[in-house]
Amino acid sequence: MKDTTEGAGTPGVPALSFDPAVALAEERAKVEAALAALYAGFTPTDGLGFGKRIGDGTHVAVERIVDVGKQEVLLEKLRAIGEAEEELAAGTYGLCRECGEPIPLERLEVRPYATRCVRHA
Ligand SMILES: [Zn+2]
Repeated sequence: MKDTTEGAGTPGVPALSFDPAVALAEERAKVEAALAALYAGFTPTDGLGFGKRIGDGTHVAVERIVDVGKQEVLLEKLRAIGEAEEELAAGTYGLCRECGEPIPLERLEVRPYATRCVRHA
């Protein structure tokens, strides 16, 4: 693949077509909103519906497992965003943590919080 370094910026760090600080802040806001929605759905004081109908127990249990999975994914994403923000501050944003190779721009555009190249993801 051809590298389109435009001579600007730190050598090795890919030239970005977007502002990673803004992209990360947007991602963080999205994840936090999703987490808030997830927690809102968990409200234990709700009291309505839950466990009222016989046979609903399994359904609710399964739903909770799915929610916990979702929560883990979101928390993991939040952690990745934090890492990417650290790297941004350190000037190593866009470089793979494993091999130090620049992460392809297309990958960063899709997930600005990527801290590893495709090979080491
Ligand atoms: Zn790598």
